[in-house]
Amino acid sequence: MQSTMMNVPLTTAAILRHGSRVHPTARVRTMQPDGSVKVGTFADVARRSAQLAHALRDCGVTGDERVATLMWNNQEHVEAYCAVPSMGAVLHTLNPRLTPEQLIYIANHADDRVVIVDGTLAPLLGAVLPHLAGVRTVVVTGAVDLAPLQREGLNVVAYEEFIAGRPETFDWPELDEFSAAAMCYTSGTTGNPKGVAYSHRSTYLHSMAACAADGLSVTGDDAILAIVPMFHANAWGLVYAALIAGADLVMPDRFLQAEPLVRLIASERPTIAGAVPTIWNDVLHYLEANPGSDISSLGLVACGGSAVPLHLMQIFQEKYGVQIVQAWGMTETSPLAAIARPPASVSEEEHWTLRASQGRPVAGVELRLVDDEGNEVPHDGESVGEIQVRGPWITGAYVGGEETDKFDNGWLRTGDVGRMDDRSFITLTDRTKDVIKSGGEWISSVELELLLAGHPAVLEATVIGVPDEKWQERPLAVIVTREGADVTPSQLRDFLDGKVAKWWLPERWCFVPEVPKTSVGKFDKKVLRAQHAAGALTVVDI
Ligand code: ADP
Repeated sequence: MQSTMMNVPLTTAAILRHGSRVHPTARVRTMQPDGSVKVGTFADVARRSAQLAHALRDCGVTGDERVATLMWNNQEHVEAYCAVPSMGAVLHTLNPRLTPEQLIYIANHADDRVVIVDGTLAPLLGAVLPHLAGVRTVVVTGAVDLAPLQREGLNVVAYEEFIAGRPETFDWPELDEFSAAAMCYTSGTTGNPKGVAYSHRSTYLHSMAACAADGLSVTGDDAILAIVPMFHANAWGLVYAALIAGADLVMPDRFLQAEPLVRLIASERPTIAGAVPTIWNDVLHYLEANPGSDISSLGLVACGGSAVPLHLMQIFQEKYGVQIVQAWGMTETSPLAAIARPPASVSEEEHWTLRASQGRPVAGVELRLVDDEGNEVPHDGESVGEIQVRGPWITGAYVGGEETDKFDNGWLRTGDVGRMDDRSFITLTDRTKDVIKSGGEWISSVELELLLAGHPAVLEATVIGVPDEKWQERPLAVIVTREGADVTPSQLRDFLDGKVAKWWLPERWCFVPEVPKTSVGKFDKKVLRAQHAAGALTVVDI
C-alpha cells in the first residue's frame, strides 16, 4: 500500500523557513573584539541569507557548485550555512588550523569555486589562494584591505558590499533531499583528508536528533553557546538545531580562550554549550584561578571529540552546577551518534559509570561491535570489538569513492574499539590505530590517559605504544604537568596502581611542555610516535 503522506523534502531551506517564520525574534549574538556583542535576529539572518544567495547566483554559482567558508563562529557564517545549501550549492567548511598544504589539497579536491573568508583569516587564504585552481570569487567579511588578495581573473569583494541592495527574499528551489548540502573533510590523522558530503535529509534528521529531549534537549527558551567550530563536523549540528528549536546562538568568533569564554558566558547567559574536553579543562583552570566568575546559566554542556575525564564532569557538576554530557561521534556521523544520558532509575555509582561512557545510540543510529575476523561481538559489557554504525546521517562512502575498506556491507567502520553493555552503552578503549598490544593483550591507552588526567599534578596525559623487545609493545606515558606542580614517574605509577591491571602500568615516562595536537585539538599520537622513533623524546625508565 502506498502511504498517503505528502512528499515534502527535508531541506536546509525548510529549516531556515521554520526558524525565521516561527522564531523571527530568536537571535544570533556574536562576540566582538572590544568585548561587545553584535546581535542579529533569525529574521535578519533569513533576509541576509537571501541576499547572499542572490549575490552568489549573480557571480555565477550554479547547480551544486561548492562554496567554501574559512570562518570562525559568527553571524555571517550562519548566513552561509543557510544560504549556500538552500540555493542548491554545497557548503564546504574549511578549517583554518590546517596546514597550507592540507588547505590546498582539500579546496582543490572539493573543487571550491567561491571562498567566503573572515577578514581576520584573509592572510591565511592569501597564502594558499594562488594554488586554488577553481576559485573565481573571494568574499571577505569585516573591514579589511582587499588589495593583498587581488589577482588577475579573481573577483575579490567585501561581504557587506556583496550582499547590499539585493532582494531580501529568495525563491529557494525544491531540492532532492538526498542531494549534498554540505561537505566536511576528516582531519586526516591517517593519510589524506577524506571528504564527507552531508545531504539535506541527513542534516535535517540529525538536527532533529540533536534537539530531542534525550539528545541535547534544545528548546526555544535556550541559548546555545557554540564553541565547537562551525568548520568542524557541522558544529555538531548546533546551528540548525537552534533554527529548528528557536534557541538563540551565542557565538565566540575567534575568541576561544578560557577568559573571553567565561566573560561571554557571564554576560550572555547561555543555557547549553558544546566544546571538546580541552576547552572545559581550560575553563575549569580559569574558574579556579578566578573565583566568583559566573557560569551558572549553563545547564547542559555537550562534550566529545575525545574521552571526557570523569573528574572533569564531577567537578563541574558539584562545584558549578553544570552538567557535562558526553557524546560520541565523528565527522562521518554528522557527528552525533551516541550520547551518555543514563536513565534516572540507576544508582549513583552506575550513573557515573554510564556518564563516563561514550553513551548509547540516538534513535536513527544503529551500533554493532565486530572482531578482527568480522564476527559480531556480544553486548556483554566486556567483549571488545570495533564499533560499526549505520543510519540516515552516517557516511556510506567518501567523496570520490576513496578508502572503501572503511565500509563493511552497509556499515561504517569507525576505527574506534570498545565494549557495549546490554542496553547499548558503549565504552571506548582505543582507536584501532592507537591500540597498544603488549604480549598479545590490549592495553587501553584511553583508560590510562583518563586516570592520569585525574592526578592533581597532571595537566595533560597521553599514552602511546612504543616498540619493546620482550613484549612487542609497551605503553609510554607522555605527561604535561600543571604550572608549579612537581611529580615523579614513580608517584604517577603508584597513583595508577590498583586502578588497572598490574601489567598495564607504564614503566616508560616522558615529561614535555606540551603534547602535539591535531587541527581539531586532539592529541596527535602519530607525531608523538614519530618523535619517539626519532629519539626526540627524553624517556625515563622506572
Ligand atoms: P578525526 O577522526 O580526524 O580525529 P573527528 O573529529 O571526526 O576527526 O574524530 C572522530 C573521533 O573522535 C572518533 O572516531 C573517536 O575516536 C573520537 N571521539 C569522539 N567523541 C569521543 C568521545 N566522547 N570519547 C572518546 N573519543 C571520542
